[in-house]
Amino acid sequence: TTETEVELIGKHEVLPMYIPRDKFSHKGHFGHALIIGGSYGKIGAVTLASRAALSVGAGLISAYVPKCGYTVLQSSFPEAMVITDTNEALISKIDFKIEPTVIGFGVGIGTKAKTVNAFEAFLKVNITPLVIDADGINILSKKKALLKLLPKLTVLTPHPKELERLIGNWKDDFDKLKKVKAFSNKHHVIVVIKGANTITVFQDKLYVNSTGNPGLATAGSGDVLTGIITGLIAQGYNPLIASVFGVYLHGRSADIAVEDFGYHSLIASRVIDYLGDAFIDLF
Ligand code: AMP
Ligand code: MG
Repeated sequence: TTETEVELIGKHEVLPMYIPRDKFSHKGHFGHALIIGGSYGKIGAVTLASRAALSVGAGLISAYVPKCGYTVLQSSFPEAMVITDTNEALISKIDFKIEPTVIGFGVGIGTKAKTVNAFEAFLKVNITPLVIDADGINILSKKKALLKLLPKLTVLTPHPKELERLIGNWKDDFDKLKKVKAFSNKHHVIVVIKGANTITVFQDKLYVNSTGNPGLATAGSGDVLTGIITGLIAQGYNPLIASVFGVYLHGRSADIAVEDFGYHSLIASRVIDYLGDAFIDLF
């Protein structure tokens, strides 16, 4: 067995990860993030993830949603470009002409057979880096053969239930980490174990986050994290750094936001609105 390296992540650790902006930079330098997700009644998840991706500095953002999401996104989030599936209520085919830098897949997408098949067909031809969350992870759990099709360094961001579906149940925290490390090694993926102290796992390395609070225990806060990590990868952060830094920023944003809203009233959109403060607070 190999040694496990554990690092506690605070401001001191993320500061060297930060990429400053050049005076002469333009949006073409910061990548094009694509969020694929949504289904009838769950388009908001895509809006949150897309807003978060742009709010950490992605150059361009597109959202790929079922037809029913078109007007919702265009009117709630004018900065986003929207591409629609041929299906009205769910993703049934993943077909776009843009060349995204990174794709965030799965928020609000559901696990209907049509969507599972669309994801499989997409994975067979895709070479773009991926961040997979929510029902994207549930689809992988339903059809484990798809794990072989993931690009190396794909980021998976399960909450506890999603993790259990993916790797089975565990006896205790040690057992859980052992299983996640084995999973990460086997599939060459980064696993972000979400919770009160989110742990990012890559092979035998563990990064334990120090920011965040129970105000994040609210609808949509995971969708925001998906957007943050996707938006960081778009700009050129490698997927592991994007995960560790993204989890830090998400928690820090919530920590600053609770000073104004308190734990009960912190909602996911407000976490997005405080991301700027989380960046400013680094210095
Ligand atoms: P999801 O369940 O997918 O919406 O994700 C919830 C997000 O909020 C994850 O990033 C969690 O790490 C974070 N979160 C939830 N509860 C807490 C908590 N009690 N303390 C800190 N972060 C939390
Ligand atoms: Mg979630």
